[in-house]
Amino acid sequence: MKSRKRVIEDIKETIEGKHPEQALQEALGYVQSIIEMMRDSLLVLDDSLRVISANQSFYDIFLVRPEDIEGKFIYELGNRQWDIPELRKLLEEILSDNTTFEDIEVKQEFPDIGQRVMILNARRIYSAEIKAQRILLAIKDITKRKRAERELATSELQYRRLFETAHEGILIVNAETGQIEDVNPFLLDMVGFSKREILGKKLWEIGMLEHANLSRERFRVLQDRKYIRYEDIPLETKDGRQVDVEFASNVYEVNGKKVVQCNIRDITERKELDRLKDEFIGMVSHELSKPLTVITGCMNTVLDEATNLSEQERTHLLRNAALQADALTHLLGNLLELARVQADRLILHAEPIEAQFVAKSVVERITEQYPTHKYSLNFPPGLPPVDADPVRLERILYNLLDNARKYSPEGSEVRVFAKPDKDNVIIGVSDQGVGIATSDHEKIFGSFERLEHVGFKQTKGIGLGLLVCRRLVEAHGGRIWLESAPDAGSTFFFNLPCKRGA
Ligand code: ADP
Repeated sequence: MKSRKRVIEDIKETIEGKHPEQALQEALGYVQSIIEMMRDSLLVLDDSLRVISANQSFYDIFLVRPEDIEGKFIYELGNRQWDIPELRKLLEEILSDNTTFEDIEVKQEFPDIGQRVMILNARRIYSAEIKAQRILLAIKDITKRKRAERELATSELQYRRLFETAHEGILIVNAETGQIEDVNPFLLDMVGFSKREILGKKLWEIGMLEHANLSRERFRVLQDRKYIRYEDIPLETKDGRQVDVEFASNVYEVNGKKVVQCNIRDITERKELDRLKDEFIGMVSHELSKPLTVITGCMNTVLDEATNLSEQERTHLLRNAALQADALTHLLGNLLELARVQADRLILHAEPIEAQFVAKSVVERITEQYPTHKYSLNFPPGLPPVDADPVRLERILYNLLDNARKYSPEGSEVRVFAKPDKDNVIIGVSDQGVGIATSDHEKIFGSFERLEHVGFKQTKGIGLGLLVCRRLVEAHGGRIWLESAPDAGSTFFFNLPCKRGA
């Protein structure tokens, strides 16, 4: 848009040396063409607020024709959509005392074009020629600008929310200076610094990122490469602790200014999981290979020494192989059950069963495998049937009996018993073994949890048996618990629901 001075100069040039009549016509033509070209709408009103004329922009924006508006009161135009009380008041004021009003923002609903937000400017002018007042009303449509502002504010709010609630640390750093410009609460929590302690500091000044030179060096690399990611670097907290983090940062431009965004993810848990996974693989492979070695050894001896072995020796070797094969099957069974639980694919095939028959068969099996202990079964007569999956009940009991014999001295007694309890049956397995301190009662149901039993021979196991028991009991809607103290033996209990109506 031309400046006022420039317009006057242009007019002077246009009319220079011309006949006054022609000069006037040309000046008017010039002004008219400027008005027509204006992007803002313009209305000329008389002193009774009737429309005298409008520019093209007004017709285009408000979708009206000259005959729709000329000679009509402004507040009667269309469906009276220009009957804006605030505007009417201002226009009346202009006519009475004020000569102008400036930058008044109004919002109005138009039937054809929807809601519009407009900035209104008006000026009273006096036409000497017709000796009457005129009002020039300029209307700037700022609907789009307002919408853009609103969208920007919304996206800024969304960004802020993401930033504030993100479950990883975020730092915004000035790419030129390395100064920290913003930090989210998660990172502050992670490192224990306050916002004030971090903002404005250089990335390498806060001592968070190992020692300073390394950070400065890394920052230089980032400026060159635009994106860097370190999978595992130590971050030092305010109180000197170390947090292992994944550090990803990238450079981008905001309003012509380069910023670095650093996303910092605490990987302590992930590393612990990786460690556990490695430990698990190591332990499982070891526990699987041990019985396999025995099985292979026994079988090979039986085959290679067929003629040299006595009947008794052969039976002993084959029994041993069978025992190890059983242990292997049991271990794999436990692993499979856990995998099913993990994948939410544990399906119980519950049916009304007499728990004592299952217990009897487990006791017989373990007596045959490990005749080292005195096993006894004590189920009172008339015990109601339980609603359980017999295969799973067998697994629970086998795990508990196997533990009872593993963690108690040879020759000692291992008892399996049951008692009714309201709508449940409580089944117990007790031993006279090393016992477990109360502080470890919960721990032993965790994955890979094995206790050190000082003065007791180290037994085999991977620390999953009790976890499997807990998951299976819970899948039946029951609970597992224990009573035990060091050197006082242990009794594990679990309850199973009785068959409904039993
Ligand atoms: P595993 O026997 O394979 O190590 P479990 O999950 O069955 O794994 O048991 C976890 C730990 O709980 C065992 O390593 C052992 O320290 C302890 N524990 C389990 N049962 C008994 C028990 N009857 N007496 C003493 N300690 C036991």
